[in-house]
Amino acid sequence: MLDFDTAQAQLAQRAIFPVRTETAPLHALNGRILATDVRATLDLPPADNSAMDGYAIRMAEVSAGTTLPIQQRCFAGQNPEPLKPGHAIRLFTGSLVPSGADAIVMQEDTQEDGDQVTFHRSVPAGNFIRVQGEDMARGQAVLRQGTLLEAAQIAVLAAQGLAHAPVFPRLSIGILTTGDELVIPGEPLRAASIYDSNAPMLASLCTQLGTEQPIVRRAPDDVAAIEQALQDLNARCDLVLSVGGASVGEKDLVKPALQALGGTLDLWRVRMKPGKPVALAELNGRPLVCLPGNPVSSFVVFVLLVSPLIRGLQGRHTVFPAVRHGILGGATPRGGEREEFLRVQDTTHDGQHELVPYPQQSSGAISSLSWAHGLARIPAGQHVKPGADVAWYAFQDWLK
Ligand code: AMP
Ligand code: MG
Repeated sequence: MLDFDTAQAQLAQRAIFPVRTETAPLHALNGRILATDVRATLDLPPADNSAMDGYAIRMAEVSAGTTLPIQQRCFAGQNPEPLKPGHAIRLFTGSLVPSGADAIVMQEDTQEDGDQVTFHRSVPAGNFIRVQGEDMARGQAVLRQGTLLEAAQIAVLAAQGLAHAPVFPRLSIGILTTGDELVIPGEPLRAASIYDSNAPMLASLCTQLGTEQPIVRRAPDDVAAIEQALQDLNARCDLVLSVGGASVGEKDLVKPALQALGGTLDLWRVRMKPGKPVALAELNGRPLVCLPGNPVSSFVVFVLLVSPLIRGLQGRHTVFPAVRHGILGGATPRGGEREEFLRVQDTTHDGQHELVPYPQQSSGAISSLSWAHGLARIPAGQHVKPGADVAWYAFQDWLK
């Protein structure tokens, strides 16, 4: 059996860095991956400006009780006159700082009376002045290649005046579910059948990571049908995920189908629970991952093993999101011979993060997935007592 960390690293290593790039407009950048480094071509702010509604002055001229004539009222978007000695210029947030001024006194520390203003206090040099380039300086690297673009990064691009940005293409994904017992949701159940929950679940996991809407195929437990579906998906997609039929049972036909197609296949028994049978194949130079059929196992394997591979194929600089730590609450896990991943909720208890396990940890319990915030890691062979510090993988981090 392969240990969990090795399996995770080996899958991520199969990622081929994207070669193609495309250009997308600002409104279509959310969730895309930036394809180049971006440097500032503009100083931000572009000139010294006021951080407050107030008065521009020479700090040496102002102490508590000083009264000065108001030379000009200058709004944001207007040009101030050079500040005359012994005067103040009325400014507003974002107004440019006049030449000659070296500080802003905020309105709350003043009293205006007609065309004069009295100051209640002195201020230090530079008070409430936002200095040119203090946010972004021309030439400075502001975003790295491989960055996931969300609102904050889009604001940086927009502030630099960019209407478009180069991004990597969205990944195309194929999903194959296998099993004679599977019925498409919406259709009537037959005797001894169940609904296919894996295909919609995996499709949603993929799009959450920013892929194109996956192409879904369903095959009965028939090697020729599986072979044909795999071949079709492999020809059309950057990555294929097959679910079920990859263990060692008599109806486990994904492996023979892949071999018949000439794919290379590593079947791993990964020392993890839930999970275990995971296979990585390569067909025509493109990767194919076989996931366990149990929906919970399939979800957990996707989060922990497949998502880093997808991030790598997307060209992201961060393939492995951060692993958090918390205090384990609730029942004592057994600490078996496999690394165990408990579905947990992150709660706050006396200012500490307490991870509460779902009471039903069976790999058949689909309901546990919608309840959980993430997966707490119980190391193999260790007796972890409630109250112990454990690593956990937050869905919030690992599914974006
Ligand atoms: P398998 O790996 O094909 O033996 O499947 C393991 C278990 O997962 C069996 O109980 C299957 O019925 C179930 N299963 C397999 N594929 C799906 C699916 N797409 N949706 C829901 N359950 C599934
Ligand atoms: Mg099956």
